[in-house]
Amino acid sequence: RAKTGGRGMFRAFEPEMDKRLRERRALERDLSAAISRNELQLSYQPQALASGEITGFEALLRWHNPERGQVSPAVFIPVAEESGLINPIGEWVLRQACREAASWARPLQIAVNLSPIQFHDDHLPVLVAQVLQETGLAPERLELEVTESVLFDDLARTTSTLQRLKALGVKVAMDDFGTGYSSLSYLQAFPFDKIKIDKSFISQLDENVNSAAIIRAVIGLGAGLSMDVIAEGVETADQLVFLRKEGCHSLQGYLIGRPQPIEAYADQVGRFEKRVRGARVKTHR
Ligand code: C2E
Ligand code: MG
Ligand code: MG
Ligand code: MG
Repeated sequence: RAKTGGRGMFRAFEPEMDKRLRERRALERDLSAAISRNELQLSYQPQALASGEITGFEALLRWHNPERGQVSPAVFIPVAEESGLINPIGEWVLRQACREAASWARPLQIAVNLSPIQFHDDHLPVLVAQVLQETGLAPERLELEVTESVLFDDLARTTSTLQRLKALGVKVAMDDFGTGYSSLSYLQAFPFDKIKIDKSFISQLDENVNSAAIIRAVIGLGAGLSMDVIAEGVETADQLVFLRKEGCHSLQGYLIGRPQPIEAYADQVGRFEKRVRGARVKTHR
């Protein structure tokens, strides 16, 4: 059966698969050169209290390749994960984000996304400690975002990694909350500092009455567990009003600010040391 159906299919699909495989390898090859060619960049998206006060930024990775243009993280992060490139890339992100945040005049939070593969690398807590020391960033200013997929494998090992990270003084947030399979049991087992309500719940507030109930419940959950709750993907004033009314602690989304190069937020983070020095040189002239 496979043979008869398969032949024609092979003829039709083989070149197609071949092509996809080649494209995939080419993408991997380009990505592996991205760090050394300075094609990676971080965008920073503000996080604010419901009152509007900015408390920190999430670092979001951007890849601009001269031939491909801007490549979405939704496309290249999975490729990085499957090829192992996520380790050097993730290390670059962590170092870059910590270095950047350490240069701000205001001691704001910096959130960094961790891939499950990075998370399950036994070396991670040592790396984080190293980067904190190297950059001089106060540990409590760093927040590591992990998704529920991180927690699937090995409960004991996951707990141990989370505890090693927390022992360094860094914060840990559960990203995309509500999109995984056993969100609640994870909250019971792990000491997260923050829950990030997935943006799909916020974006469906208007159309889906269940979304409001779910968001309300997660806010209550956070209060009961002494975990901060932040809503992702806040785009409209109506959403903001709803979240504020429900007592949501923090907000992130285009309404507060888009992910942008940090220069766009220079006023919010305070003057950089470099600029102060530059200004000093100028006045002496
Ligand atoms: P995430 O960590 O959940 O990040 C939030 C995503 O939502 C970002 O997409 C952000 O640009 C987008 N977003 C923020 N506000 C709004 C809004 O109001 N409306 C809408 N529609 N979207 C909004 P982005 O930058 O494309 O990143 C996508 C995902 O890629 C991230 O989801 C994260 O899982 C992953 N990612 C990004 N940077 C890194 C990184 O440095 N390391 C790892 N491992 N993953 C990363
Ligand atoms: Mg995130
Ligand atoms: Mg998210
Ligand atoms: Mg995500």
